[in-house]
Amino acid sequence: MSQPQTAETQMSENTTPDMKDIVALCKRRGFVFPASEIYGGINGFWDYGPLGVELKNNLRDLWWKQMVTTPPIGPDGQPVQIVGLDSSIIQNPKTWEASGHVGGFSDPMVDCKATKLRYRQDHLIVLTSDKADRWPAFHEEAEDSEISKKLKKLGMPSDIGLFEKVNLTELDVSTYAKIVGPDVNDPGTLTEPKQFNLMFHTFVGANATEADKAYLRPETAQGIFLNYKNVLDSSRVKVPFGIAQIGKAFRNEVTPRNFIFRSREFEQMEMEWFCHPDEVEKWRDFWFEERTKFWKSIGLQSDNLIMRKHGDDELSHYAKAGLGTSDIEYRFPFTAPGYGELEGIAHRCDFDLTQHQEHSKQKLEYMDPQTQEKFIPHVIEPAAGLTRGVLALICEAYTPDPNRPSGVYLNFHPSIAPKKAAILPLTAKDDHVPLATKIYMDLREHYAVDLDIKQNIGKRYARQDEIGTPFCFTVDDQSNEDGTVTVRHRNTMKQDRIAIDTIRDYMEKEMALMAG
Ligand code: ATP
Repeated sequence: MSQPQTAETQMSENTTPDMKDIVALCKRRGFVFPASEIYGGINGFWDYGPLGVELKNNLRDLWWKQMVTTPPIGPDGQPVQIVGLDSSIIQNPKTWEASGHVGGFSDPMVDCKATKLRYRQDHLIVLTSDKADRWPAFHEEAEDSEISKKLKKLGMPSDIGLFEKVNLTELDVSTYAKIVGPDVNDPGTLTEPKQFNLMFHTFVGANATEADKAYLRPETAQGIFLNYKNVLDSSRVKVPFGIAQIGKAFRNEVTPRNFIFRSREFEQMEMEWFCHPDEVEKWRDFWFEERTKFWKSIGLQSDNLIMRKHGDDELSHYAKAGLGTSDIEYRFPFTAPGYGELEGIAHRCDFDLTQHQEHSKQKLEYMDPQTQEKFIPHVIEPAAGLTRGVLALICEAYTPDPNRPSGVYLNFHPSIAPKKAAILPLTAKDDHVPLATKIYMDLREHYAVDLDIKQNIGKRYARQDEIGTPFCFTVDDQSNEDGTVTVRHRNTMKQDRIAIDTIRDYMEKEMALMAG
């Protein structure tokens, strides 16, 4: 049932939508359900309902098209080479030793997003004060003189007595935006604490001994590195080229939250771009631009999308470790006015291939067929969350509107809308239904469309508004007389009369207009 518009929701029009309302709509209309709901749910797991899976598949297919089916035109005017892959979720456990995912760490760690340094959460102290908008953090062994020096550098009163020394473990993650990490000068770069070993494990075979232990992959990327040589040997690709993969990843997140933003089972869309080490900057810039264009082309047009490309001043941090990661971030309702990562474009250097070469004792070098130069390619990796992308698309589309019975509609870009049109007989009368069915049978060959007969027409419009269907075609008495239908636009609620035999052309034209 659609909810009537309340005074509060009217007031909040044009402001950040409330996550509660978004989650409720997703459940009510069949986008996302809590997993195992009838048993009380299970924290960090979600199921995608009839419309959610369509939306997710549309995003997945558009990504695959951009990456594999029709990859973009490269800087030299030729299409770049990318091939697809679907690797196993469970691999030889040595994979995760080589990649560094199975480590000796089991304490919660925080990462600095700017420097890529990692700290034990319980080893950091923070100087807090009600009056200060920045709270400097230090290693617990930092000398007072070192602390005073840093405070001066930050332009803050250098009298330590004005602050309270608190261990980071005692602070709530919601206050992290204020914290200035130990090796930076601006607040907000520390991530929330993560259990370093966040992989789910299982046992392969009948015996559940330590030797049979295996892991559910925490990222799709490693399956690509494991198959890099197979792909080189079996296809016609040459460096630079990419391998793309979409699939499930599993992380035993310490605090799964914010609906499907941070879950324990999720889907990733990752592409590893193998190139010569001298060309990493060129390709990093190329992929950063292409990936930004992609998100814009499917509707994330507004100022809710930002690109946090690391500035030259930050590059020095990566002098040894490479170019680091540039992010494409979205302003989710729960991060506003801040932003949350949607996709990272990382320079992984030659780290993964070198590690797998060492651990597997298999040569993973590339020999340039022209120059005969032998090298381990460097990797630029655009890594996006498919399920997190679905959330960004839903948040972006969610549009409160007090002037319609549903009080809200989803303004989906036509390319991702789960249903492109609905065919609605005005009444369930005999003479409306057969013609509506005929139109539906013709249109469904070309578009994902709905035939909806039940309930009064107002309720059916409300439903289509809430699931983000761009057009409703209504069959009434006049339709049988003169071969026309009413078309109602989702965004404007404007109604026009058009001939039935022009519906397909009409949709094509109008969807192109909406796509901009
Ligand atoms: P975060 O900092 O949010 O934990 P990350 O930097 O660890 O993410 P990557 O390892 O770079 O993420 O993974 C690539 C993408 O996968 C992220 O940009 C995000 O969209 C998605 N992703 C990562 N972890 C999760 C999760 N727990 N739930 C849903 N999506 C996720």
